[in-house]
Amino acid sequence: MKQAIACIDFDGVVIEKLYGREWVGCKKIRKVNWWWLVWTMINHTWRKPVEGVKEGLITLRNKGYKIVLLTSRRKEFEEITRRWLKRNNLFELFDEFYFNNEDLGALDYKIKYFGLIRGDLHIDDNRETIKALGKTYGDKKFYLIGDKNHQMKNIKEVTGWAKIHN
Ligand SMILES: [Mg+2]
Repeated sequence: MKQAIACIDFDGVVIEKLYGREWVGCKKIRKVNWWWLVWTMINHTWRKPVEGVKEGLITLRNKGYKIVLLTSRRKEFEEITRRWLKRNNLFELFDEFYFNNEDLGALDYKIKYFGLIRGDLHIDDNRETIKALGKTYGDKKFYLIGDKNHQMKNIKEVTGWAKIHN
């Protein structure tokens, strides 16, 4: 039997988001330029790991999962990302790394590679991504990590009328 594989998104799941910025337009392919790389290098000096990520990854490892970083960050950001993981003592918790080196938007890239990796579980902070993955891979497990900064206190997601009263 193959080892179970957990795919982990990077932005908003491992590293905190930049000013709580939500990824939008993830179907578009953005061209990487030098100032974007420099800006990323700079903001990685202060961006922190998402609360509880280390413990979460250790728990998954202890459950027997192989841990794969599946990010739609372009290949050009691989070094910056690896260095940040090392600096934050998270690097060793990952077994494999996948960066987007294809002409695919974030969503299509993740759908394609989750399949190629033969993932069993994926954790992401993007609702659109999780929905699309869940539809494509009906027998796999998906987790959406909510964003405190974007969740509105007066909106509660429910699965049915029965949940409205409590
Ligand atoms: Mg993300």
